Amino acid sequence: MDIKRNVEEILEDIKKCSPYPEKVKLVAVTKYSPVEDIDLFLTTGQNICGENKVQVIKEKIEYFKEKEKKVEWHFIGNLQKNKVKYIIEDVNLIHSVNKLALAQEINKKAEQINKIQDVLIEINIFGEESKQGYNLEDFEKDIEELKKLKNLNITGLMTMAPFIEEEKVLRKVFSDLRKVKDELNEKYFFGSLTELSMGMSNDYKIALEEGSTFIRVGTKIFK
Ligand SMILES: *Cc1c(COP(=O)(O)O)cnc(C)c1O
Repeated sequence: MDIKRNVEEILEDIKKCSPYPEKVKLVAVTKYSPVEDIDLFLTTGQNICGENKVQVIKEKIEYFKEKEKKVEWHFIGNLQKNKVKYIIEDVNLIHSVNKLALAQEINKKAEQINKIQDVLIEINIFGEESKQGYNLEDFEKDIEELKKLKNLNITGLMTMAPFIEEEKVLRKVFSDLRKVKDELNEKYFFGSLTELSMGMSNDYKIALEEGSTFIRVGTKIFK
């Protein structure tokens, strides 16, 4: 494992594959990684880390706070409403808002600490087989309610591609998410959706070509 070299490779890929590399941010998914490896990752000058479990992100946040190291924490996993309170103070971005009730809870907890919480809406583009995320019709039904939430700032969309290797299918998922973002911007958001969180270790190059602005990479950095 050579974290530094892996990160350099990914940064090169961003330059090669993205139509707008200056907009792309690397989220290092640290869910498999002990804090020692995250420390190494931070020496590359990158500092966005993503976790998918509340308990784990809490522990890691505390560890790096104590060491006075600046990390930008992103929550990328399924978030239960009753656990929002544990992370709200410390996360920069929640990638995985998939229900109105969750959005309302985030809004409420953010309001209590005077914070505007940036979030992405997770959309289930591929359909039945992957269960996570809003389906698009449900999201559209909730938009007016979501827009009332003053302490919630929706900055874009996220999706999980299916676990398959077929490039054509993956590419379609990513380009569909980009089209959905453009349509939603026109109909409801007046251009305020700027982010697309899509692409992981096995498919981030395709996602970059299709316009990703956040790639979430774990295995390729840490293994
Ligand atoms: C684990 C995970 C990733 C990273 O997956 P890798 O294949 O290890 O790069 C990205 N996004 C989410 C939501 C994850 O849970």
